[in-house]
Amino acid sequence: MYHDNTGTPSSNKADRHQDTITDLPLLDTIAVCLTTGKPWDVVAATISGDCLILSKSGNISDEDEAAVGLFFSEVKRQGRGCIIGSLSQGSNWTIALPFLFSHSKANANKRLSRVHRAITDLFDDLCAKVTSYSETSILDEFHDAMSWIKHPHQGETVGSILMRAIRTCRELSLMRVQPDTVSQSKFLEVIAFASILSKSRFLSEITADWILSERTKTLKGRLDKLCQYTRVDWVISKLQQIPDLRFRWTPSSELWITPFSPEQIQLLKLRVPNLLDIWVEYKYFKPRLHAELRLILHLYSTLPITSGQFPIGCSKRSCFCCTVWIGVFNEANKSSWMTSGSHGKPYPNCAFPGNVDLKLNELVLQQITVRLADTLRSLMPMKTRRLSDEQVSSSESEDAVDPVRDQLDSFSPS
Ligand SMILES: [Zn+2]
Repeated sequence: MYHDNTGTPSSNKADRHQDTITDLPLLDTIAVCLTTGKPWDVVAATISGDCLILSKSGNISDEDEAAVGLFFSEVKRQGRGCIIGSLSQGSNWTIALPFLFSHSKANANKRLSRVHRAITDLFDDLCAKVTSYSETSILDEFHDAMSWIKHPHQGETVGSILMRAIRTCRELSLMRVQPDTVSQSKFLEVIAFASILSKSRFLSEITADWILSERTKTLKGRLDKLCQYTRVDWVISKLQQIPDLRFRWTPSSELWITPFSPEQIQLLKLRVPNLLDIWVEYKYFKPRLHAELRLILHLYSTLPITSGQFPIGCSKRSCFCCTVWIGVFNEANKSSWMTSGSHGKPYPNCAFPGNVDLKLNELVLQQITVRLADTLRSLMPMKTRRLSDEQVSSSESEDAVDPVRDQLDSFSPS
């Protein structure tokens, strides 16, 4: 199983085959470019032959069709005879940025503001740490981000580059993307410095400082998300190498969600009498089949069973329930569908597909129940209810077994 389904954020880099190491970041970046960033607008992407197959958690609008169609025709058009762009030459960026700043504006702005909050929170600590930091060479310090430090200024040191990166990330992450060239160059500058800071040895070292550790990890995670945009140039070059690049969306009509049966509703009313009333109050409650599951269900019956991995790029890491579902699905079908990891959070409206073997959903529910019980148990003190003196009979000790914990223990795997 390639997914950590313990409910904590996780990556699966160590489990990836050679092709998947390249393909997953590429597909993730495509998905990130194609999402609008609106709530629930998560995009998943995979490539089969010369066709890019896309899916969304929500409905695919005419606007999506038109915007994505225009983007790919521009990628293909400029790919004919173009020299692969770089940041300064910018041929790929001139395709990508106008599209990103209109179609995916909300997502770009969200990532910028999350970096801004995290780096502002740590700003004074980061500056203090840089001044006492024992430097090595620029090459050692920024080994994985040297492509962004093309021409260090005269006399520039590791410390001065780090300070410039920290200040630039804080100041420019305040920007909101606009369809003009000033906004484009600011955006390229902030993602470059986000990459330099995120991949620096300095940031890894201060994560070991226990006082700053959690906040530094938050900053690193947010910088990494912003840095995904640095791959856009490379992604466009890769797409241009596919001779007859096509794309299609997974039809949403193919998949359906099983409604509750009358027996299930009766059982719910019996066990949790007010639950249905609570749900009615959620006027906009709508179960959603997440994008990665849509893609798997659309493709799995048409693809040959092989020992290879099938990478799926996502604009957001998989949720807890999808991660469990993919793990169970892979085991049942001897397949290896793989997203780049899980953010570990459950969503209350995550739906399971109704057009697969329902035993599979049962297995997933069992695993989720066990994890839920584990989590509740870890949050509960040994005695959740202390009986009052009147309730404690002479024969009952204070160490009486807690009935709630008893219930939870019954969900533990044997
Ligand atoms: Zn999900």
